[in-house]
Amino acid sequence: MDQKIDQEVIVIGAGTIGCAITYYLAKNGVKVRLIERNTVGSGNSSLAASLLTKIRSKTAIIPLVEETYRAVDDLNQDLEEELDIQKVGSLHLAASPESINSLDTMLGIADDFEIPHSEIGESDLKEMLPWLKADEIQKASFMPEDAFLDAYVLANAFAKAAKKHGASIQQYTKVEALIKRDGEVVGVKTKDGDLFCNVVVDAAGAWANLLSIQAGVHLPMAPVRSNYWITAPNPELFSPDQPIVILPDASAYTRPEFGSLLFGLRESNSVHFDPRNLPEDLGGYVFGDPEDQWNILIDKGERFQKFFPEFQDVAIQHYVAGVSTYTPDGMFVLGGMPEVKGFLAATGCSGAGVAVSGGMGRIICELILGVDTFTDIEQFRIDRFGKVDALSHEFRQRCADARSNKKSG
Ligand SMILES: Cc1cc2nc3c(=O)[nH]c(=O)nc-3n(C[C@H](O)[C@H](O)[C@H](O)COP(=O)(O)OP(=O)(O)OC[C@H]3O[C@@H](n4cnc5c(N)ncnc54)[C@H](O)[C@@H]3O)c2cc1C
Repeated sequence: MDQKIDQEVIVIGAGTIGCAITYYLAKNGVKVRLIERNTVGSGNSSLAASLLTKIRSKTAIIPLVEETYRAVDDLNQDLEEELDIQKVGSLHLAASPESINSLDTMLGIADDFEIPHSEIGESDLKEMLPWLKADEIQKASFMPEDAFLDAYVLANAFAKAAKKHGASIQQYTKVEALIKRDGEVVGVKTKDGDLFCNVVVDAAGAWANLLSIQAGVHLPMAPVRSNYWITAPNPELFSPDQPIVILPDASAYTRPEFGSLLFGLRESNSVHFDPRNLPEDLGGYVFGDPEDQWNILIDKGERFQKFFPEFQDVAIQHYVAGVSTYTPDGMFVLGGMPEVKGFLAATGCSGAGVAVSGGMGRIICELILGVDTFTDIEQFRIDRFGKVDALSHEFRQRCADARSNKKSG
């Protein structure tokens, strides 16, 4: 039976990833519809710390981050308004021989990618970060180009610009199922009826496997909890323009949040979730044991306090938890499967989905246009782990371990 093609492409999920894909496709003249069951950016994107650090130990990721910065410039032009990107730079701090070694490796990578950096001495460090016990730091490197940009704002900017380029953005519509015919995905089922297209892109974040498994594809990733805290404002310790901090010796990162400090502490044993148990709307959802927000502070806070002596005394005003989609090797899930035509996925962002959203958007667009991708995507192949049961406890644990062992930005 012939069915009427409603769109060339349907993108499922309006997080930063789905919105970026829709933007690149629309900008390149592809007839595309973005379908979101809630509102644009309201999923895990609304919870991100939104660091856009360029330097990565996994070098295949760097071109994708650089593309996001290019996309932000394009969005400013397309929308004729400036996105509120905070170009505060980042400080990479090392306080042990092991982390000095890792930092030196990172600086070598920065040189290869022509990412500027400079060494910072103790007195400058004290001035830049009044909260830091600078004499604990043995090596500090400043990367002036790094920034952060609220992921919710970025997702909405991508969506708005995509709409300007002709995309349809359909909110409050759940994709109930993929429609498959003769081994090919040909459309999606929604409460308003069936929609047909040439390509379906699964950008449904933590829930992506619930759709792809219907097409026989287990995406090698799982939802894993990330957390951060925000202190009360303290103008003497936290200026709004102080740099992002990456501090592997305390499993910590920080960034300014107006006059407060946002800090993340990586758990020793990250918690993973079965996507079938995650709610469709994350509003008010408690990710795991509610006591964990204190347990992690107790477990990791002592180490952090070594570098931040007033830590025990500052008031904490907010705790934020959400899930990122992690893979066992910390790389992404990008592209299709040769045996399932008409289906692509873009997920498994391993805690970097905001930073790489532009790169992911461009790659999926290039795959759909059938042109060479601007960077090598071999390391992101969906089938690189062979056959996996993505919903099994054992596989999800491998993904959670990847987060626990993550060292850099
Ligand atoms: C605490 C925390 C801190 C983070 N910090 C950073 C950071 O500093 N830097 C960084 O780059 N990344 C960070 N991340 C990761 C980042 O948030 C994500 O990688 C990024 O936002 C990409 O999300 P997404 O688009 O894949 O998913 P989401 O934003 O969750 O979007 C997926 C969307 O799909 C929709 N959807 C699902 N199923 C369906 C369906 N059947 N029909 C219709 N719609 C559907 C959902 O409603 C949702 O809106 C952090 C994440 C967390 C939780």
